[in-house]
Amino acid sequence: MQDEFNPSLPDFNNPTQLVKKHSRSRSPERRPYTRNPYSDNPLKIPKNFIKLQDGKGSVLIPSLAGGLLSFKQFMEMQHSPIPLSEAQGFYNDYKLKFEQKHLEIFFAEHKNEPWFIEKYDPIVSQKWQEERNLNAKMMQRIFIENVKNSKFQGLKLQDTGIAPDGLSGAPYFGFDPNSLTLFLKAIPTNVSRWEILDVLKNCLGFLSLSMSEPLKSQNFARFAWVLFDSEAHCLEGLQTLCGKQVTQDFRLSPILSRTSSSKNIKSQPPTDTIENDLKLSGQLITTLDREKGIYENPLLITPEQFSELPLIEKELQLDYQLLYLRKIHSFCYYCVEEYDDERMLTAKCGIAHVRGKYDINAKTFTDPRIETRILNSGSFKNYDKDTDEILSKKLKEFEDRYTVQEEENKFRCDLCKKLFRGSEFIKKHLAVRHVDEVNGVVKERMENIMLERYLNDPCKITNPVILANDTMKFSERRKWEPRKMNNESYEDLDDPARRNARRKIVDYSDI
Ligand SMILES: [Zn+2]
Ligand SMILES: [Zn+2]
Repeated sequence: MQDEFNPSLPDFNNPTQLVKKHSRSRSPERRPYTRNPYSDNPLKIPKNFIKLQDGKGSVLIPSLAGGLLSFKQFMEMQHSPIPLSEAQGFYNDYKLKFEQKHLEIFFAEHKNEPWFIEKYDPIVSQKWQEERNLNAKMMQRIFIENVKNSKFQGLKLQDTGIAPDGLSGAPYFGFDPNSLTLFLKAIPTNVSRWEILDVLKNCLGFLSLSMSEPLKSQNFARFAWVLFDSEAHCLEGLQTLCGKQVTQDFRLSPILSRTSSSKNIKSQPPTDTIENDLKLSGQLITTLDREKGIYENPLLITPEQFSELPLIEKELQLDYQLLYLRKIHSFCYYCVEEYDDERMLTAKCGIAHVRGKYDINAKTFTDPRIETRILNSGSFKNYDKDTDEILSKKLKEFEDRYTVQEEENKFRCDLCKKLFRGSEFIKKHLAVRHVDEVNGVVKERMENIMLERYLNDPCKITNPVILANDTMKFSERRKWEPRKMNNESYEDLDDPARRNARRKIVDYSDI
Protein backbone atom coordinates (compact mmCIF):
# COMPACT_ATOMS: atom_id res chain seq x y z
CA MET A 1 0.00 0.00 0.00
CA GLN A 2 2.62 2.49 1.09
CA ASP A 3 4.60 2.35 -2.06
CA GLU A 4 2.16 1.46 -4.74
CA PHE A 5 -0.43 4.08 -3.99
CA ASN A 6 -1.17 6.21 -6.96
CA PRO A 7 -2.20 9.65 -5.76
CA SER A 8 -4.30 10.30 -8.84
CA LEU A 9 -7.54 8.66 -7.95
CA PRO A 10 -9.79 7.17 -10.57
CA ASP A 11 -13.05 8.92 -11.23
CA PHE A 12 -15.67 6.99 -9.35
CA ASN A 13 -18.40 9.07 -10.80
CA ASN A 14 -17.72 7.66 -14.17
CA PRO A 15 -19.78 4.50 -14.43
CA THR A 16 -17.90 3.18 -17.44
CA GLN A 17 -14.84 2.58 -15.29
CA LEU A 18 -16.62 0.34 -12.91
CA VAL A 19 -19.31 -1.40 -14.89
CA LYS A 20 -18.17 -4.62 -16.35
CA LYS A 21 -19.99 -6.33 -19.11
CA HIS A 22 -22.65 -8.59 -17.82
CA SER A 23 -24.88 -11.15 -19.37
CA ARG A 24 -28.12 -10.25 -21.10
CA SER A 25 -30.18 -12.03 -18.50
CA ARG A 26 -29.00 -9.47 -15.92
CA SER A 27 -29.42 -6.45 -18.11
CA PRO A 28 -31.49 -3.68 -16.52
CA GLU A 29 -34.00 -3.59 -19.44
CA ARG A 30 -35.15 -7.07 -18.56
CA ARG A 31 -35.35 -6.62 -14.85
CA PRO A 32 -38.01 -4.72 -13.02
CA TYR A 33 -36.52 -2.29 -10.48
CA THR A 34 -39.21 -2.66 -7.90
CA ARG A 35 -36.82 -4.18 -5.38
CA ASN A 36 -34.12 -1.63 -5.95
CA PRO A 37 -34.19 1.33 -3.55
CA TYR A 38 -32.63 3.50 -6.26
CA SER A 39 -35.25 2.71 -8.85
CA ASP A 40 -35.92 6.43 -9.21
CA ASN A 41 -32.50 6.89 -10.72
CA PRO A 42 -30.93 3.57 -11.57
CA LEU A 43 -28.53 4.80 -14.21
CA LYS A 44 -26.56 6.94 -11.79
CA ILE A 45 -25.46 3.96 -9.76
CA PRO A 46 -22.54 2.27 -11.42
CA LYS A 47 -22.28 -1.38 -10.46
CA ASN A 48 -19.72 -4.05 -10.44
CA PHE A 49 -20.20 -7.76 -10.76
CA ILE A 50 -18.39 -10.66 -9.22
CA LYS A 51 -19.09 -14.07 -10.65
CA LEU A 52 -19.91 -16.63 -8.03
CA GLN A 53 -17.43 -19.45 -7.92
CA ASP A 54 -19.88 -22.16 -8.89
CA GLY A 55 -20.76 -20.18 -12.02
CA LYS A 56 -24.41 -19.93 -11.02
CA GLY A 57 -25.03 -16.21 -11.11
CA SER A 58 -23.11 -13.23 -9.85
CA VAL A 59 -22.91 -10.79 -6.96
CA LEU A 60 -23.64 -7.18 -7.64
CA ILE A 61 -21.11 -4.97 -5.89
CA PRO A 62 -22.40 -1.42 -5.49
CA SER A 63 -20.43 1.57 -6.58
CA LEU A 64 -18.10 3.15 -4.05
CA ALA A 65 -19.42 6.58 -5.00
CA GLY A 66 -22.38 7.96 -3.09
CA GLY A 67 -23.53 6.50 0.21
CA LEU A 68 -22.73 3.31 2.02
CA LEU A 69 -25.40 0.67 1.68
CA SER A 70 -26.61 -1.30 4.65
CA PHE A 71 -26.47 -5.07 4.47
CA LYS A 72 -30.22 -5.09 3.87
CA GLN A 73 -29.93 -2.66 0.98
CA PHE A 74 -27.00 -4.61 -0.37
CA MET A 75 -29.13 -7.76 -0.44
CA GLU A 76 -32.13 -5.97 -1.93
CA MET A 77 -30.17 -4.77 -4.91
CA GLN A 78 -29.02 -8.27 -5.85
CA HIS A 79 -30.64 -9.68 -8.96
CA SER A 80 -30.05 -13.27 -8.07
CA PRO A 81 -30.00 -14.85 -4.64
CA ILE A 82 -26.63 -15.21 -2.95
CA PRO A 83 -26.12 -17.94 -0.36
CA LEU A 84 -26.34 -16.17 2.98
CA SER A 85 -23.12 -17.82 4.11
CA GLU A 86 -21.26 -15.97 1.37
CA ALA A 87 -23.27 -12.76 1.36
CA GLN A 88 -21.83 -11.37 4.57
CA GLY A 89 -18.32 -11.87 3.25
CA PHE A 90 -19.09 -10.00 0.05
CA TYR A 91 -20.75 -7.23 2.00
CA ASN A 92 -17.82 -6.90 4.41
CA ASP A 93 -15.47 -6.71 1.49
CA TYR A 94 -17.55 -3.95 -0.10
CA LYS A 95 -17.67 -2.07 3.21
CA LEU A 96 -13.92 -2.29 3.66
CA LYS A 97 -13.29 -1.02 0.14
CA PHE A 98 -15.80 1.76 0.68
CA GLU A 99 -14.08 2.85 3.86
CA GLN A 100 -10.63 2.71 2.29
CA LYS A 101 -11.79 4.72 -0.68
CA HIS A 102 -13.34 7.26 1.62
CA LEU A 103 -10.03 7.77 3.42
CA GLU A 104 -8.08 8.00 0.18
CA ILE A 105 -10.44 10.64 -1.14
CA PHE A 106 -10.07 12.61 2.07
CA PHE A 107 -6.31 12.28 1.76
CA ALA A 108 -6.30 13.51 -1.84
CA GLU A 109 -8.44 16.48 -0.86
CA HIS A 110 -6.27 17.60 2.06
CA LYS A 111 -2.74 16.37 1.46
CA ASN A 112 -1.50 19.76 0.26
CA GLU A 113 -2.95 21.74 3.16
CA PRO A 114 -0.55 22.94 5.88
CA TRP A 115 -2.48 21.36 8.76
CA PHE A 116 -2.29 18.00 7.07
CA ILE A 117 1.38 18.40 6.19
CA GLU A 118 2.23 19.48 9.76
CA LYS A 119 0.62 16.32 11.03
CA TYR A 120 1.80 13.72 8.57
CA ASP A 121 4.69 14.89 6.39
CA PRO A 122 7.71 13.09 7.87
CA ILE A 123 10.03 16.10 7.64
CA VAL A 124 7.63 18.91 8.51
CA SER A 125 6.01 17.03 11.40
CA GLN A 126 9.49 16.32 12.75
CA LYS A 127 10.43 19.97 12.57
CA TRP A 128 7.36 20.82 14.60
CA GLN A 129 8.09 18.02 17.07
CA GLU A 130 11.61 19.38 17.55
CA GLU A 131 10.17 22.79 18.38
CA ARG A 132 7.87 21.19 20.92
CA ASN A 133 10.83 19.31 22.40
CA LEU A 134 12.78 22.54 22.83
CA ASN A 135 9.77 24.12 24.45
CA ALA A 136 9.39 21.16 26.83
CA LYS A 137 13.03 21.49 27.91
CA MET A 138 12.53 25.16 28.68
CA MET A 139 9.28 24.46 30.53
CA GLN A 140 10.96 21.74 32.57
CA ARG A 141 13.63 24.14 33.81
CA ILE A 142 10.97 26.65 34.81
CA PHE A 143 8.88 23.97 36.53
CA ILE A 144 11.79 22.66 38.61
CA GLU A 145 12.74 26.22 39.57
CA ASN A 146 9.17 26.87 40.64
CA VAL A 147 9.13 23.73 42.80
CA LYS A 148 12.39 24.80 44.46
CA ASN A 149 11.06 28.30 45.06
CA SER A 150 7.78 27.01 46.50
CA LYS A 151 5.74 28.62 43.72
CA PHE A 152 3.24 25.79 43.94
CA GLN A 153 2.43 26.38 47.58
CA GLY A 154 -0.98 24.91 48.41
CA LEU A 155 -0.94 22.46 45.49
CA LYS A 156 -3.54 19.74 45.97
CA LEU A 157 -4.97 17.74 43.10
CA GLN A 158 -7.59 16.10 45.24
CA ASP A 159 -11.31 16.46 45.54
CA THR A 160 -11.58 18.90 48.46
CA GLY A 161 -14.84 20.61 47.65
CA ILE A 162 -13.18 24.00 48.07
CA ALA A 163 -13.56 26.40 45.17
CA PRO A 164 -10.20 27.42 43.71
CA ASP A 165 -9.21 31.06 43.72
CA GLY A 166 -8.50 31.74 40.09
CA LEU A 167 -7.68 29.19 37.43
CA SER A 168 -3.94 29.35 37.62
CA GLY A 169 -3.51 29.57 41.40
CA ALA A 170 -3.79 27.11 44.31
CA PRO A 171 -4.85 24.40 44.72
CA TYR A 172 -4.85 23.22 41.08
CA PHE A 173 -2.40 25.56 39.33
CA GLY A 174 -4.34 25.10 36.11
CA PHE A 175 -3.97 26.90 32.87
CA ASP A 176 -5.95 30.09 32.40
CA PRO A 177 -6.84 30.16 28.70
CA ASN A 178 -7.60 33.86 28.75
CA SER A 179 -4.63 35.16 30.65
CA LEU A 180 -2.18 37.19 28.48
CA THR A 181 -3.72 35.64 25.40
CA LEU A 182 -4.90 36.85 22.01
CA PHE A 183 -7.32 34.78 19.99
CA LEU A 184 -7.08 34.42 16.20
CA LYS A 185 -10.12 32.95 14.56
CA ALA A 186 -10.71 31.23 11.24
CA ILE A 187 -7.20 30.69 9.95
CA PRO A 188 -7.74 29.33 6.47
CA THR A 189 -6.49 25.90 5.46
CA ASN A 190 -3.78 27.29 3.19
CA VAL A 191 -1.99 29.17 5.98
CA SER A 192 0.74 27.32 7.83
CA ARG A 193 1.85 27.53 11.45
CA TRP A 194 5.20 28.93 10.37
CA GLU A 195 3.71 31.71 8.29
CA ILE A 196 1.89 32.94 11.39
CA LEU A 197 4.97 32.46 13.58
CA ASP A 198 6.98 34.60 11.15
CA VAL A 199 4.67 37.49 11.95
CA LEU A 200 4.41 36.79 15.68
CA LYS A 201 8.10 36.46 16.38
CA ASN A 202 8.53 40.20 15.83
CA CYS A 203 6.08 40.98 18.64
CA LEU A 204 7.60 42.01 21.94
CA GLY A 205 6.98 39.49 24.70
CA PHE A 206 5.60 36.79 22.37
CA LEU A 207 5.84 33.41 24.11
CA SER A 208 3.97 30.77 22.16
CA LEU A 209 1.41 29.99 19.49
CA SER A 210 -1.18 27.30 19.94
CA MET A 211 -3.41 26.05 17.13
CA SER A 212 -6.59 24.02 17.21
CA GLU A 213 -7.32 20.97 15.13
CA PRO A 214 -9.00 21.87 11.85
CA LEU A 215 -12.73 22.36 12.31
CA LYS A 216 -14.79 20.38 9.88
CA SER A 217 -17.79 22.60 10.44
CA GLN A 218 -15.71 25.61 9.37
CA ASN A 219 -14.23 24.25 6.20
CA PHE A 220 -11.17 22.95 8.08
CA ALA A 221 -10.15 26.39 9.30
CA ARG A 222 -8.15 26.48 12.53
CA PHE A 223 -8.25 28.70 15.58
CA ALA A 224 -5.11 29.97 17.26
CA TRP A 225 -4.07 31.53 20.56
CA VAL A 226 -1.06 33.73 21.08
CA LEU A 227 0.50 33.85 24.54
CA PHE A 228 2.49 36.85 25.82
CA ASP A 229 4.72 37.32 28.83
CA SER A 230 2.91 40.35 30.26
CA GLU A 231 -0.33 42.28 30.13
CA ALA A 232 1.41 45.24 28.49
CA HIS A 233 2.91 43.11 25.71
CA CYS A 234 -0.39 41.38 25.15
CA LEU A 235 -2.20 44.70 24.65
CA GLU A 236 0.61 45.97 22.47
CA GLY A 237 0.35 42.77 20.39
CA LEU A 238 -3.37 43.35 20.00
CA GLN A 239 -2.63 46.68 18.33
CA THR A 240 0.37 45.74 16.21
CA LEU A 241 -1.08 42.46 14.95
CA CYS A 242 -4.40 43.96 13.89
CA GLY A 243 -4.60 43.79 10.10
CA LYS A 244 -1.09 42.32 9.79
CA GLN A 245 -0.66 40.51 6.51
CA VAL A 246 0.32 36.85 6.83
CA THR A 247 -0.19 35.67 3.27
CA GLN A 248 -1.46 37.41 0.18
CA ASP A 249 -5.08 36.88 1.11
CA PHE A 250 -5.01 36.48 4.87
CA ARG A 251 -4.66 39.20 7.47
CA LEU A 252 -4.75 38.78 11.23
CA SER A 253 -7.62 40.17 13.24
CA PRO A 254 -6.78 39.31 16.85
CA ILE A 255 -9.12 39.79 19.79
CA LEU A 256 -8.51 39.28 23.49
CA SER A 257 -9.19 35.68 24.43
CA ARG A 258 -12.51 35.33 26.26
CA THR A 259 -13.08 31.60 26.51
CA SER A 260 -15.56 30.54 29.13
CA SER A 261 -15.64 26.84 28.47
CA SER A 262 -12.57 25.53 30.29
CA LYS A 263 -13.41 26.00 33.94
CA ASN A 264 -14.58 22.49 34.56
CA ILE A 265 -12.79 20.20 36.97
CA LYS A 266 -12.97 16.46 36.52
CA SER A 267 -12.67 14.04 39.36
CA GLN A 268 -11.70 10.40 39.65
CA PRO A 269 -13.33 7.83 41.91
CA PRO A 270 -11.20 6.80 44.94
CA THR A 271 -8.64 4.01 44.58
CA ASP A 272 -6.95 1.94 47.26
CA THR A 273 -3.31 3.06 47.49
CA ILE A 274 -1.11 5.88 46.34
CA GLU A 275 1.88 3.67 45.46
CA ASN A 276 0.53 2.55 42.12
CA ASP A 277 -0.24 6.08 40.91
CA LEU A 278 3.16 7.28 42.01
CA LYS A 279 4.99 4.46 40.23
CA LEU A 280 3.07 4.77 36.97
CA SER A 281 3.17 8.56 36.82
CA GLY A 282 6.93 8.39 37.47
CA GLN A 283 7.39 5.89 34.64
CA LEU A 284 5.28 8.04 32.35
CA ILE A 285 7.42 11.08 33.15
CA THR A 286 10.61 9.18 32.32
CA THR A 287 9.08 7.88 29.10
CA LEU A 288 7.72 11.21 27.89
CA ASP A 289 10.85 13.10 29.01
CA ARG A 290 13.07 10.81 26.94
CA GLU A 291 10.89 11.17 23.88
CA LYS A 292 11.53 14.90 24.10
CA GLY A 293 15.24 14.56 24.76
CA ILE A 294 15.09 15.21 28.53
CA TYR A 295 17.33 12.74 30.34
CA GLU A 296 17.43 14.07 33.86
CA ASN A 297 14.58 14.87 36.15
CA PRO A 298 15.30 16.06 39.71
CA LEU A 299 11.60 15.84 40.49
CA LEU A 300 11.57 12.04 40.62
CA ILE A 301 12.46 10.13 43.78
CA THR A 302 13.25 6.47 44.42
CA PRO A 303 10.64 4.05 45.85
CA GLU A 304 12.75 3.85 49.04
CA GLN A 305 12.71 7.63 49.49
CA PHE A 306 8.99 7.60 48.82
CA SER A 307 8.18 4.90 51.35
CA GLU A 308 9.85 6.95 54.10
CA LEU A 309 7.61 9.95 53.52
CA PRO A 310 4.51 10.67 55.63
CA LEU A 311 1.24 10.38 53.70
CA ILE A 312 0.79 14.12 53.26
CA GLU A 313 4.18 14.40 51.57
CA LYS A 314 3.52 11.32 49.50
CA GLU A 315 0.45 13.05 48.18
CA LEU A 316 2.39 16.21 47.46
CA GLN A 317 5.01 14.21 45.56
CA LEU A 318 2.26 12.63 43.46
CA ASP A 319 0.68 16.04 42.88
CA TYR A 320 3.98 17.42 41.59
CA GLN A 321 4.29 14.48 39.20
CA LEU A 322 0.75 14.82 37.91
CA LEU A 323 1.13 18.58 37.51
CA TYR A 324 4.43 18.02 35.71
CA LEU A 325 2.73 15.62 33.27
CA ARG A 326 0.12 18.29 32.57
CA LYS A 327 2.43 21.28 32.24
CA ILE A 328 5.42 19.75 30.47
CA HIS A 329 3.82 16.96 28.47
CA SER A 330 0.21 18.18 28.18
CA PHE A 331 -0.74 14.75 29.45
CA CYS A 332 -3.63 13.99 31.77
CA TYR A 333 -2.81 10.95 33.89
CA TYR A 334 -6.47 10.16 34.53
CA CYS A 335 -7.81 10.73 31.01
CA VAL A 336 -4.67 9.05 29.60
CA GLU A 337 -4.66 11.57 26.79
CA GLU A 338 -1.89 13.77 25.53
CA TYR A 339 -2.27 16.99 23.57
CA ASP A 340 -0.12 19.44 21.64
CA ASP A 341 0.04 21.88 24.52
CA GLU A 342 -1.42 22.70 27.92
CA ARG A 343 -4.06 24.93 26.37
CA MET A 344 -5.47 22.02 24.38
CA LEU A 345 -5.30 19.79 27.44
CA THR A 346 -7.28 22.38 29.38
CA ALA A 347 -9.81 22.70 26.59
CA LYS A 348 -10.39 18.95 26.43
CA CYS A 349 -9.90 17.78 30.03
CA GLY A 350 -10.49 20.91 32.11
CA ILE A 351 -8.30 23.03 34.38
CA ALA A 352 -7.76 20.10 36.71
CA HIS A 353 -8.48 16.41 36.93
CA VAL A 354 -8.48 15.52 40.60
CA ARG A 355 -8.50 12.19 42.41
CA GLY A 356 -10.78 10.95 45.12
CA LYS A 357 -9.37 10.23 48.59
CA TYR A 358 -7.37 7.02 48.94
CA ASP A 359 -9.49 4.36 50.55
CA ILE A 360 -8.17 0.95 51.40
CA ASN A 361 -11.59 -0.56 50.62
CA ALA A 362 -11.79 0.93 47.15
CA LYS A 363 -10.94 -1.11 44.11
CA THR A 364 -7.66 -0.55 42.31
CA PHE A 365 -8.19 0.33 38.75
CA THR A 366 -5.32 1.06 36.45
CA ASP A 367 -6.16 2.20 32.98
CA PRO A 368 -4.37 -0.30 30.71
CA ARG A 369 -3.61 2.53 28.27
CA ILE A 370 -1.03 3.91 30.72
CA GLU A 371 1.10 0.78 30.51
CA THR A 372 0.59 0.62 26.76
CA ARG A 373 1.84 4.17 26.47
CA ILE A 374 4.93 3.36 28.55
CA LEU A 375 5.65 0.17 26.60
CA ASN A 376 5.12 1.72 23.18
CA SER A 377 7.58 4.48 23.78
CA GLY A 378 10.30 4.77 21.22
CA SER A 379 8.26 2.99 18.57
CA PHE A 380 8.07 6.33 16.81
CA LYS A 381 11.23 6.48 14.74
CA ASN A 382 12.66 9.68 13.44
CA TYR A 383 12.54 9.95 9.71
CA ASP A 384 15.81 10.46 7.90
CA LYS A 385 15.65 11.15 4.19
CA ASP A 386 19.26 10.08 3.69
CA THR A 387 18.69 6.59 5.03
CA ASP A 388 15.28 6.10 3.41
CA GLU A 389 15.97 3.06 1.25
CA ILE A 390 12.75 3.30 -0.69
CA LEU A 391 13.50 6.90 -1.59
CA SER A 392 17.03 6.10 -2.77
CA LYS A 393 15.65 3.24 -4.85
CA LYS A 394 13.15 5.63 -6.46
CA LEU A 395 15.87 8.19 -7.15
CA LYS A 396 18.07 5.51 -8.68
CA GLU A 397 15.21 4.40 -10.92
CA PHE A 398 14.72 8.02 -11.93
CA GLU A 399 18.40 8.40 -12.85
CA ASP A 400 18.40 5.16 -14.81
CA ARG A 401 15.26 6.17 -16.66
CA TYR A 402 16.83 9.36 -18.01
CA THR A 403 20.34 8.05 -18.66
CA VAL A 404 20.58 6.71 -22.20
CA GLN A 405 23.83 5.16 -23.30
CA GLU A 406 24.36 5.75 -27.00
CA GLU A 407 27.91 4.51 -27.42
CA GLU A 408 30.80 3.65 -25.16
CA ASN A 409 31.57 6.83 -23.18
CA LYS A 410 28.60 8.61 -24.70
CA PHE A 411 25.55 9.11 -22.54
CA ARG A 412 22.52 11.24 -23.19
CA CYS A 413 20.25 12.94 -20.68
CA ASP A 414 16.85 11.91 -21.91
CA LEU A 415 15.23 14.99 -20.39
CA CYS A 416 17.19 17.69 -22.27
CA LYS A 417 19.12 15.48 -24.75
CA LYS A 418 22.50 16.79 -23.64
CA LEU A 419 25.48 14.44 -24.11
CA PHE A 420 27.98 13.35 -21.46
CA ARG A 421 31.13 11.25 -21.31
CA GLY A 422 30.08 9.15 -18.37
CA SER A 423 26.90 8.16 -16.58
CA GLU A 424 28.18 9.69 -13.31
CA PHE A 425 28.07 13.13 -14.99
CA ILE A 426 24.41 12.66 -15.80
CA LYS A 427 23.76 11.95 -12.14
CA LYS A 428 25.22 15.33 -11.21
CA HIS A 429 23.56 17.00 -14.17
CA LEU A 430 20.12 15.71 -13.16
CA ALA A 431 20.62 16.95 -9.60
CA VAL A 432 21.63 20.43 -10.76
CA ARG A 433 19.70 21.03 -13.97
CA HIS A 434 16.53 19.04 -13.37
CA VAL A 435 15.77 19.95 -9.79
CA ASP A 436 12.01 20.04 -10.35
CA GLU A 437 11.90 16.51 -11.71
CA VAL A 438 14.06 15.20 -8.86
CA ASN A 439 11.85 17.00 -6.35
CA GLY A 440 8.85 15.36 -7.97
CA VAL A 441 10.27 11.95 -7.08
CA VAL A 442 10.90 13.07 -3.49
CA LYS A 443 7.42 14.58 -3.21
CA GLU A 444 5.81 11.37 -4.40
CA ARG A 445 7.69 9.42 -1.73
CA MET A 446 6.72 11.92 0.97
CA GLU A 447 3.09 11.60 -0.07
CA ASN A 448 3.26 7.85 0.23
CA ILE A 449 4.62 8.16 3.75
CA MET A 450 1.95 10.74 4.57
CA LEU A 451 -0.80 8.45 3.37
CA GLU A 452 0.56 5.58 5.39
CA ARG A 453 0.79 7.74 8.52
CA TYR A 454 -2.67 9.13 7.96
CA LEU A 455 -4.22 5.69 7.55
CA ASN A 456 -2.44 4.45 10.68
CA ASP A 457 -3.47 7.40 12.84
CA PRO A 458 -6.11 6.19 15.30
CA CYS A 459 -7.31 9.78 15.83
CA LYS A 460 -7.44 10.71 12.17
CA ILE A 461 -9.96 13.24 10.95
CA THR A 462 -12.15 12.09 8.14
CA ASN A 463 -15.44 13.01 6.60
CA PRO A 464 -18.46 11.30 8.11
CA VAL A 465 -19.63 8.43 6.00
CA ILE A 466 -22.83 9.14 4.12
CA LEU A 467 -25.22 6.29 4.47
CA ALA A 468 -27.33 5.42 1.50
CA ASN A 469 -30.91 5.98 2.47
CA ASP A 470 -34.05 4.76 0.71
CA THR A 471 -35.73 8.10 1.03
CA MET A 472 -32.80 10.17 -0.11
CA LYS A 473 -31.41 10.51 -3.56
CA PHE A 474 -27.81 10.63 -2.48
CA SER A 475 -26.59 11.05 -6.02
CA GLU A 476 -28.13 14.50 -5.99
CA ARG A 477 -26.32 15.66 -2.91
CA ARG A 478 -22.90 17.15 -2.72
CA LYS A 479 -20.92 14.01 -2.35
CA TRP A 480 -18.81 14.61 0.74
CA GLU A 481 -20.61 17.31 2.63
CA PRO A 482 -21.12 16.46 6.28
CA ARG A 483 -24.53 15.05 6.87
CA LYS A 484 -27.18 17.27 8.30
CA MET A 485 -27.83 17.22 12.01
CA ASN A 486 -31.30 15.79 11.53
CA ASN A 487 -29.79 12.58 10.28
CA GLU A 488 -29.98 10.58 13.46
CA SER A 489 -26.81 8.55 13.09
CA TYR A 490 -24.46 11.45 12.38
CA GLU A 491 -22.29 12.66 15.19
CA ASP A 492 -20.16 15.73 14.85
CA LEU A 493 -16.97 14.81 16.67
CA ASP A 494 -15.94 18.47 16.69
CA ASP A 495 -18.99 19.37 18.70
CA PRO A 496 -17.75 20.98 21.93
CA ALA A 497 -20.37 19.04 23.86
CA ARG A 498 -18.42 15.92 23.00
CA ARG A 499 -15.05 17.27 23.71
CA ASN A 500 -13.75 14.16 25.42
CA ALA A 501 -14.44 11.90 22.52
CA ARG A 502 -11.41 10.80 20.57
CA ARG A 503 -11.89 10.73 16.87
CA LYS A 504 -12.28 7.24 15.61
CA ILE A 505 -12.98 5.89 12.20
CA VAL A 506 -16.69 5.42 11.83
CA ASP A 507 -17.73 2.00 12.91
CA TYR A 508 -20.35 0.54 10.66
CA SER A 509 -21.20 -2.39 12.85
CA ASP A 510 -24.53 -0.84 13.83
CA ILE A 511 -25.98 -0.96 10.34
ZN1 LIG B 1 -8.24 14.48 32.51
ZN1 LIG C 1 19.24 17.14 -18.93
